[in-house]
Order: sequence, then structure tokens, then C-alpha cells
Amino acid sequence: MIMAKYDYLIVGSGLFGATFAYFAHKQGKRCLVIDKRPQLGGNVYCEKIEGINVHKYGAHIFHTSNKKVWDFVNSIVPFNRYTNSPVANFHGKLYNLPFNMNTFAELWGVRTPEEAQAKIDEQKAEAVAKMKADGVTEPRNLEEQALTLIGKDVYEKLIKEYTEKQWGRKCTELPAFIIKRLPVRLVFDNNYFNDSYQGIPIGGYNKLIEGLLAGVETKVNVDFFNSEYHDWQKYADKLVYTGQIDEFFDYKYGRLNWRTVSFKTRVEDKPNYQGNAVVNYTSHDVPYTRVIEHKHFEMFGQQVYDNPKTVVSEEYSTEYKPGMEPYYPVNDTTNNSLADKYRAETAHQLDIIFGGRLAEYKYYDMAPIIEKVIQMFDK
Ligand code: FAD
Repeated sequence: MIMAKYDYLIVGSGLFGATFAYFAHKQGKRCLVIDKRPQLGGNVYCEKIEGINVHKYGAHIFHTSNKKVWDFVNSIVPFNRYTNSPVANFHGKLYNLPFNMNTFAELWGVRTPEEAQAKIDEQKAEAVAKMKADGVTEPRNLEEQALTLIGKDVYEKLIKEYTEKQWGRKCTELPAFIIKRLPVRLVFDNNYFNDSYQGIPIGGYNKLIEGLLAGVETKVNVDFFNSEYHDWQKYADKLVYTGQIDEFFDYKYGRLNWRTVSFKTRVEDKPNYQGNAVVNYTSHDVPYTRVIEHKHFEMFGQQVYDNPKTVVSEEYSTEYKPGMEPYYPVNDTTNNSLADKYRAETAHQLDIIFGGRLAEYKYYDMAPIIEKVIQMFDK
């Protein structure tokens, strides 16, 4: 029998494919990683513009409480001290996020946790009373859910129109379950994540991908479906597939839907545009949802001013059409049951590993993707 050239043909060089290749290579396995894009790294890829790493496929902030994952990524490249603390702009007035004492002081001028809690309780009670008057006990939609969880001021200024821009639908037409909880912090703490660790790789995400793929054979601009590798058994004993699951099965049950985001990126001729990496625009009069100023992920203090330019990206929530970037799975019943049909098909493919957000039709943050691959190799 002729031995295949590779142990693994890995389709996709995102974090799943690259981490898989790292551990397989370490075990002495022969791997080939192919990607249809002109570069490696999947969605964490950054493009250098004016000396700044620009997150081309959306801003990525690494965060985890899993020490093993944190130590692992830091063993590939050390991470910086970036702490995510977004700001919201509603009709020109700024509010700190996530909802915390700074936000409540900005909204109401309150100074103590008791004052803030009293204001929230008063507004929550108003919402519950209104529902009761309508003869309703359970929130019927996202609007009622948010009003009963946080009250009208936070909802109207920081949630309502932002959510409507994100989903392209009115909050009264969105299901309540989208918002399960709205955590409120009665401390002056703008750190968005509750995780123990967060940061950005020093030198950017491409360094992480380069480190993971060091010594591994890779090919870009190669689409699995339109290349010799579609006949993968000729080349490898096993296939690791991280592309779209419906495409793998030739859409035989139909196409899965996604939500997507489009970006308008520009260079600003000033060192500091908005003073923060992330600013959410929470009112309808601004068509985009967020503005990302990429340098703030990696440049701090004087470093911001050492580069006289800056790069900003406006983010627009966009209805997905085939050919666009598939970003977020749509977890409604139609799409979930379609995805289940495809998942059932994967059970018959014993020499194929389906992994990552596209092949599993599941949203994953970066750390859980790495954790999953670590666990596969720990077994
Ligand atoms: P991907 O990174 O998408 O990689 C899949 C790769 O497969 C791509 O390179 C693609 O080109 C390739 N491919 C697909 N089909 C084929 C084919 N037919 N032939 C060859 N190659 C193919 N996570 C966080 O932890 N923090 C964040 O702040 C964060 N922000 C995000 C923002 C956005 C807009 C999105 C969409 C996701 C964000 N994530 C974030 C999640 C993060 O992007 C994912 O966890 C990670 O990308 C998953 O890696 P992956 O390998 O599964 O997928």
C-alpha cells in the first residue's frame, strides 16, 4: 500500500486548524494546512496599515479564566495588558460600559451603590407594573425583558437602538431569550470581562498564528472544493475540516444562515482619534454599531503619540448573503435543526474531524477553540 504523504490535511488556518497543526506537528505527524484566503490565521488575521495591526475580520480580544489555555498561548507569544473597557456614545454623550457605577453616575449623577440600586429598582418596578396593567406576567419580547431587568434609562440609551441596529429588527419583535441576564456592577469598574486573563499578543495575532504553524507546511489561496485536495484521501490519512459544514455536504439539506458585519476602514491623520479601542454607537442616527481604533489594542501611553496616524473601522451589521463572510451562526429553530441534520452526517465520516465555528455551526470565542484542541490531544 502506498503511504499518504500527510497524516493530516487541515482545511482552514484559523485558530482551530492552526492549533491542531501545532499539536499534531509536535507529535511528529506530517501536516498540510490549506486556506482559501490569501493569508493564514482565519478571522484573527491582522493587516498592517501605517504600522498598526488592523483586525481585518473584526476586533478580537483574547480572554479566558483557563490558566492552561492562557499559559499555552503565552508560550507561543507573550500577551500584553490590554483590558477591554468599551465606551458608549448616545447622541454625543459618553457612558462607560459594562453597566457599572461609572455608567450610573453618568446617567443619573448618583454617587453610591445604594443610590444606584434604588434608581434601578424604581425603574424595574415601573416596567413590571406596566406589564401587569397589560395583564402580562412574563416578558413577551426583548424590550420587556430588558426593561424588567434594568429599567428604562439604561435600556433606552444603551440597549434599544444598538440592538435594533445589530439585528435589523425592532426590540419588540425580537425574542426575550436573546437577553438572559443584564449584569450590573455596583462598583467603579469598566473592565468588560470577568475573566482572570485578557490581552492581545505582543506584535499582533499574526505572531500567534506564525508560532502555531512554525515548521508546518501551508498553502494559501487554495479552496478545498476547487482544488486537487478535494480528493483528500490521495494526500492524507485524515482530514481536519474547519470550513462551512453545509458546503462540505454540498448544501444537500439547504443553506445555513449567518449574521455578518461589514467594515469601513480609514486612516486618520492624527495620533489619537477616540481615545479608546472600542466605542459603541447606541443611537439610530449613526448607521454603524461600533468604531474600533486599532492602535489602542497594542499601543499604550506615549506609544499612541509616537505614531502620528491612526486607523479606525466603522462596523455595520449586515444581512448575510452567500459569498459574504459568515460570522455569527443564527441560532433559531430553523437553522439549528438544519445544522443538526448536517451534524448527523458527520458521524459517518470516521476519518474526518469537523472542528471550529464554521464546521460546528457554533459561536466560539478564541480561548474555548484552543481549549477544545488541547483536550483532543490530551486524550
Ligand atoms: P476561522 O478563524 O473562521 O478559520 C476558518 C478558516 O477556514 C478561514 O481562514 C477560512 O478561510 C478557511 N476555510 C473555510 N473554507 C475553506 C475552504 N473551502 N478551503 C480552504 N480554506 C477554507 N473571539 C474572542 O475570543 N474574542 C473576540 O473579541 C472575538 N471577536 C470576534 C469578532 C467577530 C466579528 C467574529 C466573527 C468572531 C470573533 N471571535 C472572538 C471568535 C473567533 O473569531 C473564533 O473563535 C475563531 O476565529 C475560531 O477559529 P476557527 O478556526 O474556528 O475559524
